[in-house]
Amino acid sequence: MHDDRSLVEARLKRVLDERIRPAVYPESVPLQVGIWTAPGEPVPVAEGLAAPRTPLTVGQAWGAPWGTSWLTVSGTVPAGWAGRTVEALLDLGFDENMPGFQCEGLVYRSDGTPVKGLNPRNQWVRISDSAAGGEAVELHIEAAANPVILDYHPFLPTDLGDKATAGSAPQYKITRMDLAVFDPVVYELVLDLEVLGELMAELPTDGARRWELLRAVERALDAVDLQDVNGTAPAARAELAGVLAAPAVPSAHRISAVGHAHIDSAWLWPLRETVRKVARTCANMTALVAEHPEFIYTMSQAQQYAWIKEHRPEVYAEVKKAVAEGRFVPAGGMWVESDTNMPGSEAMARQFVHGKRFFLDEFGVENEEAWLPDTFGFTAGLPQIIKAAGSKWLLTQKISWSQVNTFPHHTFWWEGIDGTRIFTHFPPIDTYNCSMKGSEIAHAARNFKEKGRASHSLAPTGWGDGGGGTTREMVGKAARLRDVEGSATVRWERPAEFFAKAQAEYPEPPVWVGELYLELHRATLTSQARTKQGNRRSENLLREAELWAATAAVRCGLPYPYQQLDRIWKTVLLHQFHDILPGSSIAWVHREAEATYATVAEELEELIGASQRALAGDGSSEIAFNAAPHDRGAVPAGGADTVAPAKGSCTAEPSPDGGFTLSNGLVRVVVDARGLVVSLYDTAAEREAVAPGTAANLLQLHPDFPNMWDAWDVDQFYRNTGTDLTDADSVVLAADGPQAVAVKVTRSFGKSTVLQTLTLTAGAKRLDLDTEVDWYETEKFLKVAFPLDLHTDRYAAETQFGHLHRPTHTNTSWEAAKFEACNHRFVHLTEPDWGVALVTASTYGHDVTRTVRTADRGTTTTVRASLLRAPRFPDPHTDQGRHVFHHALVPGATLADAVREGYRINLPERRVSGSNAVAPLVTVDQDAVVVSAVKLADDQSGDLVVRLYEAHGARSRARLRTSFPVARIDGCDLLERPQHQLPLDARGIELTLRPFELVTLRLARINGG
Ligand SMILES: [Zn+2]
Repeated sequence: MHDDRSLVEARLKRVLDERIRPAVYPESVPLQVGIWTAPGEPVPVAEGLAAPRTPLTVGQAWGAPWGTSWLTVSGTVPAGWAGRTVEALLDLGFDENMPGFQCEGLVYRSDGTPVKGLNPRNQWVRISDSAAGGEAVELHIEAAANPVILDYHPFLPTDLGDKATAGSAPQYKITRMDLAVFDPVVYELVLDLEVLGELMAELPTDGARRWELLRAVERALDAVDLQDVNGTAPAARAELAGVLAAPAVPSAHRISAVGHAHIDSAWLWPLRETVRKVARTCANMTALVAEHPEFIYTMSQAQQYAWIKEHRPEVYAEVKKAVAEGRFVPAGGMWVESDTNMPGSEAMARQFVHGKRFFLDEFGVENEEAWLPDTFGFTAGLPQIIKAAGSKWLLTQKISWSQVNTFPHHTFWWEGIDGTRIFTHFPPIDTYNCSMKGSEIAHAARNFKEKGRASHSLAPTGWGDGGGGTTREMVGKAARLRDVEGSATVRWERPAEFFAKAQAEYPEPPVWVGELYLELHRATLTSQARTKQGNRRSENLLREAELWAATAAVRCGLPYPYQQLDRIWKTVLLHQFHDILPGSSIAWVHREAEATYATVAEELEELIGASQRALAGDGSSEIAFNAAPHDRGAVPAGGADTVAPAKGSCTAEPSPDGGFTLSNGLVRVVVDARGLVVSLYDTAAEREAVAPGTAANLLQLHPDFPNMWDAWDVDQFYRNTGTDLTDADSVVLAADGPQAVAVKVTRSFGKSTVLQTLTLTAGAKRLDLDTEVDWYETEKFLKVAFPLDLHTDRYAAETQFGHLHRPTHTNTSWEAAKFEACNHRFVHLTEPDWGVALVTASTYGHDVTRTVRTADRGTTTTVRASLLRAPRFPDPHTDQGRHVFHHALVPGATLADAVREGYRINLPERRVSGSNAVAPLVTVDQDAVVVSAVKLADDQSGDLVVRLYEAHGARSRARLRTSFPVARIDGCDLLERPQHQLPLDARGIELTLRPFELVTLRLARINGG
């Protein structure tokens, strides 16, 4: 037979586009439109509904960037449409190629109840399934003129990302406002043809099924009278029924479709707009759930539920109803879909505490899956946190974005630093915006790496970010793909149902040990430094506030600020969302974040101050409070004592070349005339830290213009060129003892200046480095380098509740791809008997490289902390202005020293006037067992909650003692739910911890303690 395949395929495309799809709405009449534009920020629904309208005609422009307009559309269903299905078609000026990221609307009835959202792929509102004819129609649209930030030519700098700079030019034109007849048969025919046409294209041309589909499609097209599509659609559908009824083969891949909209909690829009994006999408999804009994929708991020509960109660009521019916599924059990690289130990734990608790309190639902489709890589500390929160599964999609290496598994055990394993699924469909296209379904089946052992994968289905979620077309296509020959099967399922089936069929999947590093978006560890510093500062202040408020509650009976801490935690957790903390949002978001962090700091400082004043009592002695988990001189960890004079002294000697030699008996530091550290000598060990012929504290400036994703990415080629900032404007002695000696170095480069203070303190084996930068560069990357005389093939970087090791070499493509990585408070590099730690109070990005010297064949291991970038998209002025960084270089550091110094630099001692020493509520007699939180229990019972972990990666035995009477101590999960009682003796409890084990204890106080 002659091969006419391409002829039939081209015919299908043209007839669908030009004849059949338009026939879904065979008749229409225009609606009257009135508009009112809110003068500033969005207004409450009642105010928008009540505002006076002025007439608007189709084709007219509307919508200044970020503005809100209220439209009223009204008309009458023509008498001749009696018995027909009628819909309103409301096109605000959508670009269908871009679902999300543009204008959107939420349709209300006159009584203020929501109908559904309006989105580029969702422009209809059902008026009647069977019209009477003559009925009046009136709808109201809250229309948001969110400007397009990520345009067809992506990543171009734009001022649209902040209301303050976006201007007032209208962004959109009203395109269509009609009442129309909806032909359900033609609508179904479109879906039949789309599903079969898309499936056909994925099938092998030498297989019979492809040709069966082709012939069926051809017969259907023959049956369509192009002058009477509506009259002939039933006949066309009849030709397709047979091929749609042929069942899938028994070995077909099984897809669990999960209705979904990945809504970034802020990104190319401000936080306030996310509230409305969630409301629009939820309105769509509760309506879709009501219309399609098989459909199940899933939404993560407790924060998004909390938002609509507060701001759109009428939408939330529908959500609550659908959740109760089991059709709208809260997923993930986290407060937001956070970044996981940068949040500290406690914050990562609290993401789960607050997320799970919200779902439990509101819906009685406990999630067992963590849901992080889009997060930029996953730390090796996370599995243990997921487990301790009472969850056991993880879903992520993002690893498919890795630039270099293809991840080998789609379903696997993911093992963290402590050995905890989490059953993890990485959907082979490679998207979290599946639209039920044949190509996506076929890709999932082909791509699935567990074939032969497993058969289930998951497909998050729907448009996110204001795209409106799952569409009725997707539901229609999924129904056809439920069981059809040639395709994977598709079922709507809850994430938990998918995971249960996947785990049952594949109880022993392959194992991946360590971090799930995303080989992309590495610059998110550095971009928007103020946001990152705000996060770190907030985490540290929350630790202090909880510790001192709990101590003051137990010791002085001060009321514990439960509600205030709960609120502040949620604010900090929100800002760890995977486009806020990573620095990839528009200017508006980061400007607001900076202000919010300032308010958070102010509130927490007040709390800390009030608690400490109560504890210190009256008097004029200087009392030092130590919130760190290690004793500091005479001041115990978690306690306070009078300030003792520091031991030892420092000296500073000028060198003939213009530099200085600083010494405190433990360390000798040589700063040369360029202000660079050419020697850092550990006196006791008689070891030099700085590699011969090099200088540490060297600022290096690289061009930084990635190929895509400016705020997110730094591409490897950035290292090809760079400038060492060795010219100093001045190098002067700023303090000369005896308690501290310091050298101040100023430099100028480009339009920027930097002032560094290098301080040596009496009795301290470390060099403190404070760096103030006035940063006015564009597309540059600033690093500070420490070339060390160390031979090591790996180093340790702190992550949540422990650390992980990364190689210093690039033997494999996996290692080479990790050219920028994350640390929390320290990186530690060591030979068996001597090492160096670099500790930081606020930076996360770093790199470690090695070179073997020709002169002595020694190895130089260079660690560089990443300080600043200056990408121009999406915030064209990223990081401009003043920044302050604190680092310290610790020679002769063991891992234990790295842990201790990391806490020290993040939790500086506070001094308060008073008279009382404060004994810590709890003490731990083992350096390796680190207290990460001391607080009162969230249930307001008055119990004390202590979280601690083994920080050295070794087995550890420790005794926890309390300084108040205790009735019992229970081991708990992260949500502070007791799991097992621990044997308590007169001296407290004995703890035995595995390497990196995390333990949460609940201590019941006798008589309120
Ligand atoms: Zn996202």
